[in-house]
Amino acid sequence: MTTTPPDSRLPDLPDLPDGHPATWIEYLRDVVFRTRGKTYWTYLSPAWVQLTGFTVEESLGRDILEFVYPDDRPENIAVKQRLESGGQMASRHTKRLLRKDGSFVWIEVDLRVLRDEAGELVGSIGTIRDITERVALERALERERALASVTLGSLADGVLIIDPAGQIEYINPAALALLGGAEADYLAHTVTDRLAFDGVDFPQILTAARDRGQVQALGQRCCVLTADGARIEVDGVLQPLPGEQAGLVLVLRDVREQRALQARLSFQATHDALTQLMNRAAITDALGRAQARAARQGGVYSVLLADIDHFKLVNDHYGHGVGDEAIRLVSRTLAQHLRPGDQIGRWGGEEFLIVLPDTETVEAQGIAERLAAAVRGLPSPVASVALSLTVSVGLASARPLSLTHSAAVLVQQADAALYEAKQAGRDQVWVFDESEQGVLSLAVRVQSAMDAGGVRPVFQAIHDRSSGALAAYEIFAQITTPDGETLSAQAFMPALQRVHRAHRVDAAIIPHALSHCPTTDALCVVHLSADLLHRPAQMATLFAQLQESGAEFSRLVLKLGDRAALPDEAALRAVLSPWFEAGASLVINQNSTGQAALSFWIDWPVGFIQLDGVLLRQALTSPRAYTVLTALHALAQSLGYRTIAEQVDRPELLELVHDIGVDWVQGFLFGTPRPIGA
Ligand code: GH3
Ligand code: MG
Ligand code: MG
Repeated sequence: MTTTPPDSRLPDLPDLPDGHPATWIEYLRDVVFRTRGKTYWTYLSPAWVQLTGFTVEESLGRDILEFVYPDDRPENIAVKQRLESGGQMASRHTKRLLRKDGSFVWIEVDLRVLRDEAGELVGSIGTIRDITERVALERALERERALASVTLGSLADGVLIIDPAGQIEYINPAALALLGGAEADYLAHTVTDRLAFDGVDFPQILTAARDRGQVQALGQRCCVLTADGARIEVDGVLQPLPGEQAGLVLVLRDVREQRALQARLSFQATHDALTQLMNRAAITDALGRAQARAARQGGVYSVLLADIDHFKLVNDHYGHGVGDEAIRLVSRTLAQHLRPGDQIGRWGGEEFLIVLPDTETVEAQGIAERLAAAVRGLPSPVASVALSLTVSVGLASARPLSLTHSAAVLVQQADAALYEAKQAGRDQVWVFDESEQGVLSLAVRVQSAMDAGGVRPVFQAIHDRSSGALAAYEIFAQITTPDGETLSAQAFMPALQRVHRAHRVDAAIIPHALSHCPTTDALCVVHLSADLLHRPAQMATLFAQLQESGAEFSRLVLKLGDRAALPDEAALRAVLSPWFEAGASLVINQNSTGQAALSFWIDWPVGFIQLDGVLLRQALTSPRAYTVLTALHALAQSLGYRTIAEQVDRPELLELVHDIGVDWVQGFLFGTPRPIGA
């Protein structure tokens, strides 16, 4: 179909090689049109038929408004008026075109107005494009947008959209509620300026998400800091949007409750409900870690197994409620007396396992003694009953060589030591040591002898050297074991001291020291063990017992136990001052050296200096030892102290002490320790 331009003033169509300028128009999918005057079609290309269902012939000459969908006519008239009035030379607009079958089609009209030389409007020329698909797409997109906006708006998670330059493009209501502030505080601001995190390097993760185009999580420990300074635990994810330079979505979820719940659950899984200590599984893990660490570093570590003594009696006498309270009290006390890094767990009913990383036996023993002392010093767990609690402790240390053993073996060893501690009388610390089995079994034997009343005092005479008169007695303990063997203090005291039970001997001997003494006027040297001196309550009881029995304290000469094991000076003074005030005096051994010993020489109520047998024997052959001995004697004399020579068991020694002028002598030459009447 060809048409001749109806108006020669209309611009020519471009020339085509075949001389039919309109030919190619016939192949276009868009409709090409012309109108004449203001209203009617004068040319329509064949695509019109396809678009509307009308033929070109029946359409030409008709008013274009007839073809406009009625709803769109007012808008169309407005456009037309703007074009006619000369305000506008061209227009591109969309509208619906009526089809012959009564349906409509969305079109985009692109037209220019044509004017004659006088400027009079003579028509228009343009194209009509079917945009049904585009409109449908736009509709779908619009719907998606609305959907996305509603969805983001109603999400409980906070969502921020970050543009490729790192600026916040969108923030949803949940994010605003979480972070605080208003939308304007965020939009078009750089995200790293507006959002502060803790527990995560947010700028670095942002860069990673952008550069790798991969989702990045902000991590388990992430917290966001809100506008008002609060710190909120969040789960965060940065999701790059698809496409080049498309920006990212940041999703933040408030997980405070969830993390608190997780923490509670994980605490419950690893802790004991009654004591809040680690449970057996958790402390076993801790033990495994200590073992692995020691094996790796070639170090040592120790374990303690502490068990409350006679706990069944607590339950039986006071009921399980009090029993539970006692377990709680002991567990708290033990935990409080550990160092940072030590770990404690409830191993069984009233049994606790303590792991001491990087700790040698000696140090561990000190800690164990402290724990036992702390429990011993506890007030009754229930105010209404006088209940005193003690624990026994077994200790085992893993040395580099024994680290090939499993940690379980170490616990078995601690358990064996705990058993020994129980056998030995409870309220004490035992160290697992294979080489010590002999000492331990001796201590057990001695204690059963004491339980059976097999302990008694023996007296060794001390004579005035010059007159030969009986001046004093030194009292020792002697024990007859259930199997009939008699043991001297020298033989069994080290074993008892080893298990810290020496005070039991003192308690059995001292109350009757003076009343059983073979004479009523001689002085009496009594031993106070370090174990006793560490127990002020028991010292006070003994003192009261002596007072009640009418003892003359001025006859008591106190001999203190192993200096290294004694309480510190202040504690010692506190515990001894009533005795000194009542008239007792002190004998000290010349072997005492060092600062503490000198202070004894200087400001304690010393009556006697004991010169021990070893030094005496040395002085027989060594001029230096002789000099030391004479100097000590002279020093004692000048301070007003009397000297007592010990273990004088040979005539040469007696000659020596005569030479020097020692005041009193003691030893087998003058008599062995013997019971009363023997
Ligand atoms: P020993 O000095 O030899 O340790 O004597 P013991 O009576 O403490 O003996 P043992 O350690 O064998 O007894 C532990 C008792 O502790 C037995 C059990 O009835 C009680 N027990 C265990 N767990 C609990 C608990 O959670 N609460 C209470 N009240 N008692 C418990
Ligand atoms: Mg127990
Ligand atoms: Mg037990």
